[in-house]
Amino acid sequence: MKGLMQPGGLMISSLLTHAARHHATGEVVSRTHETTTHRHTWADVERRARQLVRVLHHLGVGESDRVGTLAWNGYRHLEVYYAAPGMGAICHTINPRLHPDDIAYIVNHAGDTVLFADVSFAPLITMIAPRIAETVKAVVMLTDAAGMPEVTLAPGMALYAYDSLMDAADDDFAWPVFDENTASALCYTSGTTGRPKGVLYSHRSTVLHAYAIALPDVLDLRATSRILPVVPMFHVNAWGIPYAAALTGAALVLPGRHLDGASMAQLLNAERVTFTCGVPTVWLGLLQHLRSSGERLHTVTRIMTGGSAAPPLLIEAFRDEYGVVVEHGWGMTELSPVGTYNAPKPAQAGLAGADAVRHMLKQGRILPGLDMKIVDGADKALPWDGVAFGDLKVRGPWVTSAYFGDEPGSALDADGWFATGDVATIDPDGFMEITDRSKDVIKSGGEWISSITLENIAVSHPDVAEAAVIAARHPKWDERPLLLVVPRAGHTVDPASVLQAYEGKIAKWWLPDEVLVVPELPHTATGKLLKTALRSRYRDHYMGAG
Ligand code: ADP
Repeated sequence: MKGLMQPGGLMISSLLTHAARHHATGEVVSRTHETTTHRHTWADVERRARQLVRVLHHLGVGESDRVGTLAWNGYRHLEVYYAAPGMGAICHTINPRLHPDDIAYIVNHAGDTVLFADVSFAPLITMIAPRIAETVKAVVMLTDAAGMPEVTLAPGMALYAYDSLMDAADDDFAWPVFDENTASALCYTSGTTGRPKGVLYSHRSTVLHAYAIALPDVLDLRATSRILPVVPMFHVNAWGIPYAAALTGAALVLPGRHLDGASMAQLLNAERVTFTCGVPTVWLGLLQHLRSSGERLHTVTRIMTGGSAAPPLLIEAFRDEYGVVVEHGWGMTELSPVGTYNAPKPAQAGLAGADAVRHMLKQGRILPGLDMKIVDGADKALPWDGVAFGDLKVRGPWVTSAYFGDEPGSALDADGWFATGDVATIDPDGFMEITDRSKDVIKSGGEWISSITLENIAVSHPDVAEAAVIAARHPKWDERPLLLVVPRAGHTVDPASVLQAYEGKIAKWWLPDEVLVVPELPHTATGKLLKTALRSRYRDHYMGAG
């Protein structure tokens, strides 16, 4: 027997119409490329998104067509976020930090017909135009006519100024209701190995994810929140915040392209931001700026960090010096992206001092709606004892089942689980902790060593700015850890003293065999350590050893 409740799909447009109707004056503030501050309300965003649908129609965009964006976090980008899926098309966010070859590949693979781009990407568009001309018919620069940059396109491609198109369009459009499983957005993973792969979200997955991340034990969003996503809208949907802010009526502050410590501190204070989300690198930059300038954060009470492991220093320094709580979450493009969040259960609520920091290094509990498990090499489930570590698998309605262009279900194992490529422990209270990427874990004499644990200890050394541990091949042990460290500005690193920092903290056989001091480490387009490059350079470092 079926229930007798009203039908009606989970539509992304319903998040926006809710915000417009019930939080009409809720603010959407953007720092633009002109470095002015632009103010809209949720009512403006909804009306202009309808206007943009009319523009998309005019440009020939139809249902299921892919609309590419190369843009920073700003109000025009937000309008594309809602207009494209709202009319049944797909918003394809492109990471501009990728290599131009990868960007051209992604645009062609996605089959984008229109590209919306911020003015700072004009040279990039000019460079790749001949390579994307077969699919892209129109390029819309996110500016007014006066701000149009120099762009050279290939024959057959038309160039427009966003504001001119919007000025000429009416808003005579009603948001349609259609199958909630319809594709809504597309995002490619950076592809640290191999070509980037597309994750194709649906209205249903997006709305469910928005509800889940708004929960008190996750981002805890409410109508009085003022949230600033530093995490880019061009990658992993800015962790779903553009949708969850509309759902809750929270004010949304979009920072544009200047994400250095000084710009961040200024914007956080000027816009009375209460909560902000981003990767550790941004927070380390902010911390450095606050310490050197003596500035304070006046309204921020919480900072969420994710995307890579949270350095203990970050949690400690913000708490002890600025009274700001740093919270830790984990996710990936394939998970829309949030999978776990570290919020206390009763047993952890009273933790203080170093214990609280140690606990916050864990990536957290699975969001309700998803499930997770850790398995050994034979796919056998491992115990949740906080010690055993194995491959982390997840499943749930906002986890991908296949990559764009592949057969449905092809990214899953026989039981429907998605292998994250991360290696983790889970403690008896259900807190997951990443110990490695499966391709980065060091397999020494048949046992596993966590590279992240070793890196965390290395960066706690006062002379070390950044550290990477890789598996180097070893004639006797198969693989052994090799530690590479970058000295802090003005410091020199004594390898012996770094190795001393490990004493009492790890099993003896985990100790890196050698410490190499290097001027810098390579990073991916999303700011993570590029271990593939380090491995190809240093893989045979120990092969002469006995
Ligand atoms: P990429 O940056 O490679 O394009 P993602 O942003 O999807 O792709 O990266 C997801 C990966 O980032 C995860 O599988 C995990 O390895 C890493 N990651 C994300 N959050 C954390 C975290 N809090 N701690 C450690 N690793 C993390």
